[in-house]
Amino acid sequence: MSLAARVEEKLFQNRYLVDAGKPHIAIRPHEKPSENLLAMTRICPAGCYSETSSGQVEITPDGCLECGTCRVLCEESGDITWNYPRGGFGVLFKFG
Ligand code: SF4
Repeated sequence: MSLAARVEEKLFQNRYLVDAGKPHIAIRPHEKPSENLLAMTRICPAGCYSETSSGQVEITPDGCLECGTCRVLCEESGDITWNYPRGGFGVLFKFG
C-alpha cells in the first residue's frame, strides 16, 4: 500500500460538520492568482483549493483540516480571509 493511500485512508476517518452558507475561508476575487495562492492547489493537504478552467483559484473549505498552511501563505497578502469555523462546526479529528 502506498503512503498516499494510507494518508487518504486516515483522512477519511475524520468527520466534518459543515456550517452551510458560512465558509470559514474566502478567496479575494482575482483575474490571475498570486504564486502563493496558485501553490495552494498543490499543497493543501485536504485538496480544498482548485484551479478553474479560466485560471482562477477557488476553494471548497468543507473538508478543511484547519492546518493553517493557506493562512500562513496567503492571509497577509489579502489573497484570502481565514477564520476558524464557528464552535461545533469544522473538522472532528479521530485519533488512534
Ligand atoms: S487550513 Fe490547511 S486544510 Fe484548510 S484549506 Fe488551508 S491548507 Fe487546506
